[in-house]
Amino acid sequence: MAPATATAAATVAASAVKKSAHAKVNLTVPLLASLAALLFVCPALVVGFWTACTHYQCSLTSTYTHLAAAYNNTDLFWPILWQKLPQFSVESSLLYSGWVVFQGLLYAYLPGRDGYGQQTPAGHVLPYKVNGLRAWLLTHVLFIVGSFGLGWFSPSIIHDRWGGLLVAANVYGYALTLFAYGKAHWFPSHPRDLRFTGSVLYDIFMGVELNPRLGNKWDFKLFHNGRPGIIAWTLVNLSFAAAQYQQLGRVTNSMVLLNFFHAIYVVDFFYNEDWYLRTIDIVHDHFGFYLAWGDVAWLPFMYTLQSHYLVRNPVDLSPSGLISLLAIGMAGYYIFRCANNQKDLVRKADGKALIWGRPAQVIRAHYVTSDGKMHSSLLLTSGFWGISRHFNYVGDLMMCFAYCALCSFNHLLPHFYLVYMTILLVNRIDRDSERCSHKYGPYWDQYCQRVPYKLIPFIY
Ligand code: NDP
Repeated sequence: MAPATATAAATVAASAVKKSAHAKVNLTVPLLASLAALLFVCPALVVGFWTACTHYQCSLTSTYTHLAAAYNNTDLFWPILWQKLPQFSVESSLLYSGWVVFQGLLYAYLPGRDGYGQQTPAGHVLPYKVNGLRAWLLTHVLFIVGSFGLGWFSPSIIHDRWGGLLVAANVYGYALTLFAYGKAHWFPSHPRDLRFTGSVLYDIFMGVELNPRLGNKWDFKLFHNGRPGIIAWTLVNLSFAAAQYQQLGRVTNSMVLLNFFHAIYVVDFFYNEDWYLRTIDIVHDHFGFYLAWGDVAWLPFMYTLQSHYLVRNPVDLSPSGLISLLAIGMAGYYIFRCANNQKDLVRKADGKALIWGRPAQVIRAHYVTSDGKMHSSLLLTSGFWGISRHFNYVGDLMMCFAYCALCSFNHLLPHFYLVYMTILLVNRIDRDSERCSHKYGPYWDQYCQRVPYKLIPFIY
């Protein structure tokens, strides 16, 4: 580094240290009120969608009309409502517990190489066991052989027990949230990477520990997002496709396309699991309700809503509809994967890489970790990262559109996923921008000047 640059960097470094010492989450009353509401609204939404699909053909209007009529016309509203909710079942709870324990054992004992996360604010570079693809393959082979091959259980078992599994997943999600909060107080894995904000509610919701672990490598975030969360995704779809076959005697082309799209996304995730170690979930988000309950309850139930919908409302796509949606989904996947690869490639090669056939353009940014040490990093400003600051999200949203559109447009419910992902990613852009601005200071401002749009050029 040239001396002049070093002085500039040291100034940025000193100011960043000052800032981080006083960095506080702005705990406003509306923020805390919305977090308190979300702790209950999110599970209620999952349960509500289950009820709508299971009892009212996934029609939100019909659900509302029937329940409102019961409320207005009978004294038996509460018993009726209770009957429409998912019920606790010992068998489903055992199945769910067995599933989590089995995935935990695969994570701990299946062989896999070591991947490394990004440097944490306290300066740790943590090792991770990367064996997700093997766990995904083994789980699916066992499920297919055990159900289709040996007939030990029905392939529609997940569909058939969906209500009981939902109850078990919610109980586990809340228990995990409380455990994570207690662990941060009593036996944190990396005490210098804790974030206590002074609000118990905020800390429970957004998490305190950055990388909670059991032992050296059993990582709560990587495990819960990847294993009970993302491995379940394709398994759930498969089971719902089997249920559709049992009901119709065939599997519709929309269900096949949905299984295909989701399988690409999931296999891509595990094939590139090493890349995932450097995404916001792992690098920046702390482990609280948002990730804990989100991974074990929200993800497997809400991300598979379309397959639940298609069992209740089979859709036969026309050849042109099928081809158009396939093209949109695959174009989205191409953008998603290439954009994410460009960032990873340029950082790994320290900027000496070709992007779209030309030398990568980068800003060499400096920042300081909480131990006072100065580091440098690269902000790519060419390729997809020169079009907008989060063009990778555009690819994701195109895929989401394809998943939803293949359910046709007769009901609102299957389109919830696109709405949710848009809100999630736009909120992520804002949170990320605030964090990067704090981390990189003037370097981030320079990046924003070079790449002014956040998501879609000339629009946002
Ligand atoms: P990004 O992969 O966009 O990572 C953002 C981080 O990258 C920033 O915090 C910053 O971190 C670094 N960065 C920002 N700008 C640049 C740049 N120009 N050059 C190099 N590094 C930069 O975000 P996510 O982790 O949210 O997303 C990863 C993928 O996962 C996306 O494709 C997204 O669509 C997908 N996703 C899917 C979700 C789902 O539920 N299906 C949910 C969330 C994401 P640093 O501190 O390292 O500089």
